[in-house]
Amino acid sequence: MPSLFDITKFEQLKATGDLPSPRGVALAIIHATQGDDVSMTELARIIKSDPAFVSRLTKEANSLVGLGVARQRSIIAVQEALTVLGLSSVRNLALGFSLLSNYRRGAAGFDYERFWSASLLCAIGMQTVTRRTRVAPADEAYCVGLLCRIGELALATVHPEQYGALHDEVLDGNPDRLVALERERFAMDHRELSAAMLADWGFPKVFTESVFAHEALGEAVFSPVGREAVIAESLVLVRRLADFCLAEEASQPALAPLLIEAAARLSIDVEALSEISDHVVAEWTSWGSLLQLKTRVLPPFASLLGLRLSVVTANVVPHPPLAVEPPLRREPEEESAVVPAGPKSHLRILVVEADPDSRRQICEILESVGHKVEEAETARQAAEQVLLFLPHLMIVDWTLPDGSGLEVVERLRQIRMGRRVYVLVLTGGHDEQHLVEAFESGVDDFMSKPVNPRVLLARLRAAQRVVNLHQEIEQDRDEMRNFAAELAVSNRRLQEVALLDALTGFPNRRYFMDRVEQEWAVSNRNKRPLSCMVIDIDQFKQINDTYGHDVGDAVLKYASTCLKRGLRAQDVIARTGGDEFVVLCPDTTVIEAEYAAERVRRTVESEAICIGELCLKVTVSIGVADCDRLICSPDALVKAADQGLYAAKQAGRNRIGRAPVQLEQDTLPAVGFR
Ligand code: GH3
Ligand code: MG
Repeated sequence: MPSLFDITKFEQLKATGDLPSPRGVALAIIHATQGDDVSMTELARIIKSDPAFVSRLTKEANSLVGLGVARQRSIIAVQEALTVLGLSSVRNLALGFSLLSNYRRGAAGFDYERFWSASLLCAIGMQTVTRRTRVAPADEAYCVGLLCRIGELALATVHPEQYGALHDEVLDGNPDRLVALERERFAMDHRELSAAMLADWGFPKVFTESVFAHEALGEAVFSPVGREAVIAESLVLVRRLADFCLAEEASQPALAPLLIEAAARLSIDVEALSEISDHVVAEWTSWGSLLQLKTRVLPPFASLLGLRLSVVTANVVPHPPLAVEPPLRREPEEESAVVPAGPKSHLRILVVEADPDSRRQICEILESVGHKVEEAETARQAAEQVLLFLPHLMIVDWTLPDGSGLEVVERLRQIRMGRRVYVLVLTGGHDEQHLVEAFESGVDDFMSKPVNPRVLLARLRAAQRVVNLHQEIEQDRDEMRNFAAELAVSNRRLQEVALLDALTGFPNRRYFMDRVEQEWAVSNRNKRPLSCMVIDIDQFKQINDTYGHDVGDAVLKYASTCLKRGLRAQDVIARTGGDEFVVLCPDTTVIEAEYAAERVRRTVESEAICIGELCLKVTVSIGVADCDRLICSPDALVKAADQGLYAAKQAGRNRIGRAPVQLEQDTLPAVGFR
């Protein structure tokens, strides 16, 4: 990740409480699985309170043991599923599922349906591809695929209006432009935010780095056979597959070669790619209906890719029409969910009642005064309908075939949008103690059965007043949120101005001095190596004097690009002086740092910088040091690298130098590589 995206910036954002985060049952699962001593029975009990998650979990477990589709399972089956999947997978699944259930609407211009549909494709794609490459457990890869763009969702949640508008400007989905605009508007981009959020949720570094790198392959220097590289390349492949599956038929020919190329980088030929893609699409449509996401049926990829390829390469065969392609399946209604808006006099009301006559009677009364009504017969149906229909008001019978109405209310109050729903419970002559219980569960009002139409309408007016009040509070809250988000952007910008060098975009000395202390502490605590480089452009003054400061500035920018290209994403690069840069390399021995320095040195000298007619070449000298027993403070580390630089300059420039072993004896400098 870029060096400036430090943890403070993320913590600040997290502290606003606006970042997407798991809720309700998922949160309970995540907490429970954090301890080692969680009992399976306890975990099964938590999971069982969310029917939708139960089907998801058992389907996942079944697919792992090859049993096929999900079916209704008992608590024993949930425990079985837990054993099959293991705690960390259950935790990850709960996390993904909770985010998917809770963050499906919000920012106006952000296409949530497409986002989740593509994310689901990426999830299944990653699961399928990693079963082949074996670089990660398939179910963990599923979650990495599902959440690889979570930073986009976060920006849409934190800055709903601006992010929607920004997406409208990048209709072609060009990732570089998207990142550039995000940085311009919000002083951060979705790639770094995705990686930071995954890290915060406990995903290991190998995944967070791959997630960041898959959209910035040019910036990261992974070993080409390392796990990170394979995971990052797999993410590129599944993102392209998702684009392909969601693209209009007319755009698919242009996307096919990109897909094939990404697969080839993982040694997957077109035939295998077709098989993988067919499997992914079949799973996608089946999962999609379970998760209420739009999907589509595609013709077999063998024909699709072969066909497309012949069009692309030979440009002879005219496009035959694709096989029957049903329109994208859509959600019944797409309205802003986070704030259930709408005309204040008409409410969305969910009636949860098993008895058909009583249900019909209530619905007719409500519809007769213009409210929009949906029905549910069981607690399970109610839980699903709440997420789809986003009611303002729920009328829930005390007794339901699969549980009590109060359990429905308790569960409802665990999710964010559910806390705002006004709940009216229908009672069959319960005593006071029961009513007290009902209010404790989060019920707002109650009414006895059989329902008297006049009493119901009177109760509705009371409900309406509360709902209206809620909406006004929500609007105020939204304004406050927008204001806070804008303020946060200004703060981040100020922080950047204070800590960033305007010419190269790198952090400046002030930032570096703080950061070196942090990295020093981390490396000490974890007993990991830490290296430092000091890089200085050779004869830079002469360039300034001969060609002027503008050319000098262009050289500085060129050098900064070479540094980015030659170093790893986790390295911290700063411009600490006129033509001097310092780099901190965590987890790197001095030998490895020397190799990296040599890569940078060669990159700089290999190309000419052309400004108009003028073309010139520059070189750099680099000093390298790591913390050993003689270097016992961050200052000493930088000083040792500086001595290495001095040695390199003394030895003729354009080379790598190491500080003499005995710091006090600087007679014969150790100069490497040249
Ligand atoms: P050496 O090989 O020993 O490093 O020689 P040098 O000429 O590079 O010497 P030095 O590193 O001391 O030169 C730094 C020069 O950088 C001096 C100063 O005029 C110039 N400088 C400092 N900041 C900037 C800047 O922002 N833009 C430009 N164009 N030049 C700068
Ligand atoms: Mg210099």
